[in-house]
Amino acid sequence: MAKYDYDLFVIGAGSGGVRAARLAAMSGARVAIAEEDRVGGTCVIRGCVPKKFMVYASEFSYHFKTAKGYGWTVGESSFNWTRFLAEKDKEIARLSGVYVRNLQNAGAELAHGRARLLDAHRVEVEKIGVRTADKILISTGGRPWMPKDLPGVEHAISSNEAFHLTELPKRIVIAGGGYIAVEFAGIFNGLGVETLLVHRGPNILRGFDDDVRSHLAEELEKRGVKVVLGTQHTAIEKTATGLVSHFSDGHTFESDVVMLCLGREPYTEGLGLDKAGVKLTEKGAVAVDAYSRTNVENIWAVGDVTDRINLTPVAIREGQAFAETVFYDRPTSFDHEMVASAVFSQPPIGSVGLSEADARKQFGKVDIYLARLRPMKYSFVGGDERALLKLVVDAATERLVGCHIVGPDAPEIIQMAAIAMKMGVTKTQWDATCAVHPTLAEELVTIRKKHVPMGLGQVA
Ligand SMILES: Cc1cc2nc3c(=O)[nH]c(=O)nc-3n(C[C@H](O)[C@H](O)[C@H](O)COP(=O)(O)OP(=O)(O)OC[C@H]3O[C@@H](n4cnc5c(N)ncnc54)[C@H](O)[C@@H]3O)c2cc1C
Repeated sequence: MAKYDYDLFVIGAGSGGVRAARLAAMSGARVAIAEEDRVGGTCVIRGCVPKKFMVYASEFSYHFKTAKGYGWTVGESSFNWTRFLAEKDKEIARLSGVYVRNLQNAGAELAHGRARLLDAHRVEVEKIGVRTADKILISTGGRPWMPKDLPGVEHAISSNEAFHLTELPKRIVIAGGGYIAVEFAGIFNGLGVETLLVHRGPNILRGFDDDVRSHLAEELEKRGVKVVLGTQHTAIEKTATGLVSHFSDGHTFESDVVMLCLGREPYTEGLGLDKAGVKLTEKGAVAVDAYSRTNVENIWAVGDVTDRINLTPVAIREGQAFAETVFYDRPTSFDHEMVASAVFSQPPIGSVGLSEADARKQFGKVDIYLARLRPMKYSFVGGDERALLKLVVDAATERLVGCHIVGPDAPEIIQMAAIAMKMGVTKTQWDATCAVHPTLAEELVTIRKKHVPMGLGQVA
């Protein structure tokens, strides 16, 4: 008789957990996966996917405006939030169903309920009971961080609730400077909501290239988002007419919804990690090695709960690498270098590699190639939207170490640029690539002139 009920018990059926469970089950292992909510996790249920639908929905207002400049007569248009949400929920339910079927087809058993560890081999699933497993994978993801001591925080929503607002607000305050805040600012603004984006730092999108950060802040303003920097909430007050945000600079602003996007935290609360002796990092993430193994020999962790790079494709690849290592006898560690990412702001961002500032720290002398231009589609209609393309090159080796784009289709373009950069492309090889015309992307292979940043006095 088998010593344990399962060879592998996975806690959390999101991007990382589902991939790991499926692959492990396909190897012939007996696998169970617990999920307290809907299968698919943050990405499918309350993250990337529904958010992208919202971005698509909100972009139409800009398309309608542009269409007029191209000779179209656009009739009266209006947006039905309730109908959109119903369609969105239908599609999310379909996708979640696909995830469930994929798990079942692979032979993994789904346990619906909240799971917690009792020790290194025993897992208790709410309403189901205790199960034992030889190996355990923690893939419980992350959740929005809310400032519990902010007066009136109970009146604010996080991104989780933004997908289910019963009514489209007329006015919204979004606090935060990360990609989720910036994306939702674009979404609500595009849907006609008066949008105030407030961030306590000196600029939005910390960690991104500085030119990208200031360029996007300007473009957001051009589209109608009010961006206020260097201030933060001191209280949220509910009044008869709405919610009044009180800010540290003394200003107040009344809105219908206050959305806090102040960061996310690894979701480890009540998971029983202490019972199994699993160590956490200082920031509360599950500490793992390059193979996603924790300090406990039979327990691994992947995805946002490990707080490495918190993106869906990364969680998937970590889950895959875990399964290959443990169930296919192919030791595989996912390489976290040169992972491209996108911000679905309006206009969007695509970015891979180092910012100029980080590259200077790492390499000393770097060459910068930078272009700002009016995207063809919008210059035709006299719009003042600008795109930004920036390349960061290690001067000593000529290797491209950063590529950053703000403009139409930037997320699609960056995926391809990331391939060349992951392969270690040099600027000469990059430039040998013939342009595709007329595109925004062609600018990337035609910028020849070195950019001299103000005050640096680097010789071009
Ligand atoms: C608004 C938003 C937009 C995003 N947009 C993008 C994007 O455009 N591109 C991108 O790459 N990434 C995006 N992300 C990030 C992406 O969603 C995450 O990186 C990804 O989902 C992480 O996968 P995961 O498997 O680690 O965790 P998750 O997908 O969060 O899955 C964890 C699962 O575990 C379950 N769970 C937790 N605890 C327990 C328990 N004790 N018992 C049972 N089940 C449990 C949860 O219910 C959840 O389903 C976005 C995130 C948010 C919030």
